[in-house]
Amino acid sequence: MPQVRRVKGMYDILPDDVGLWHRVERSAVALLERYAYRELRMPIVEHTELFSGAMGETSDVVSKEMYTFEGMSLRPEGTAGCVRAAIAGGLMGQHAQKIWYSGPMFRRERNQRGRNRQFYQIGAEVFGLEGPDIDAEQLLMLERLWQELGINDLELQINSLGTPETRAAYRTVLVEYFSDHMDRLDDDSKKRLDVNPLRILDSKAPEMGELIIAAPVMSDYLDQESADHFALLKDSLDQRNVSYVENPRLVRGLDYYTKTVFEWVTDRLGAQGTVCAGGRYDGLVEAQGGKPTPGTGFAMGVDRLVLVLETLNSEHNISTADAYVVLSGDSALRRGLSLVESLRDANPLIRFETNLGGGSFKAQFKRADRSGASVALVIGDDELANNAVSVKFLRDDRPQQTVAVTKLNEFLSDIL
Ligand code: ATP
Ligand code: MG
Repeated sequence: MPQVRRVKGMYDILPDDVGLWHRVERSAVALLERYAYRELRMPIVEHTELFSGAMGETSDVVSKEMYTFEGMSLRPEGTAGCVRAAIAGGLMGQHAQKIWYSGPMFRRERNQRGRNRQFYQIGAEVFGLEGPDIDAEQLLMLERLWQELGINDLELQINSLGTPETRAAYRTVLVEYFSDHMDRLDDDSKKRLDVNPLRILDSKAPEMGELIIAAPVMSDYLDQESADHFALLKDSLDQRNVSYVENPRLVRGLDYYTKTVFEWVTDRLGAQGTVCAGGRYDGLVEAQGGKPTPGTGFAMGVDRLVLVLETLNSEHNISTADAYVVLSGDSALRRGLSLVESLRDANPLIRFETNLGGGSFKAQFKRADRSGASVALVIGDDELANNAVSVKFLRDDRPQQTVAVTKLNEFLSDIL
């Protein structure tokens, strides 16, 4: 059979490259758990109407990017499914449910660096809290995550979209403004004018730039309640010295947002600059048939965060073992596996890799080096006779040492 190629826009992540993925995923999940979030796992496929209802028929994602078959779609994002699952699971109408999820999402987009057709998100949703304290806590948590990952040059952009009533009023003003300048609208914006005029503000077409900058801004039309909410959020960020930029043209692509919206942006990835985005969606739960429950959340693009870490030359942790066991001679080959099992019994935190498949001493040391291990543990006839192993340091300039098997536990935990 000829080799079958992978599907366009969908990638393999090979073991040599997975280190940075693990770093992002493990840091994010550990941090979410430190902030009392719990995981929810939902299916990758949902009824298509779930996404069109939640995200809006006219959003780019629903109108042209979904993989749909037999009335179902591969999930293009996690919020809609998470809300559905939380309603079905009886989690709504209670005080504060803090949820996280992660996994692949699917969008049939124009494939570019940082824009894939299967991509990965880690997301979080909080149900049942309407105050700005949770919006602020999410941003503080994310700021902490970037610091832990060593990413120091993201820009936080925030905006408030107000209540649905504010948005409706603002929408009317925008339609009037853009209709007055019909001749200067590009084709995409002309289409959006009727169905989703706020999205024109999101246009990346250069010829639209001037017109968009001069457009009326939401903040001038914000209702008092939303303005107070927004002010309190900014106050929390100021208290913690989290810097942010107010971007009055930040609208986000989906219909369900209310009040707070935000994006973390990098200039390291060209047009694929947003690495994490989210906001508040107080009407979505009710619109999906649940008890009225406010919600707020975000999703980060793991693919893009990995690309950012690559541009920072962050170290891939390629080591597969802490200690590589070199077996020399027939007796060691015969008794080696069992001996290493007892080392594993005694040292549950240390990763041992045993040389399998034989090979000369030299070949074994080559593999030991490639494994990334800090030490090689040599077991040969002498060592077996003395119930000891020889420890050879692979990364440090230190003399070889013989260590009794009974002392190895202590010895290894000291040096690794
Ligand atoms: P963009 O404006 O870049 O298309 P978006 O607004 O469509 O992003 P969201 O739906 O908010 O993105 O998804 C949250 C995050 O998921 C994005 O900020 C981004 O990091 C990531 N993401 C979205 N689409 C893709 C994709 N096709 N490939 C890789 N990552 C993606
Ligand atoms: Mg998009």
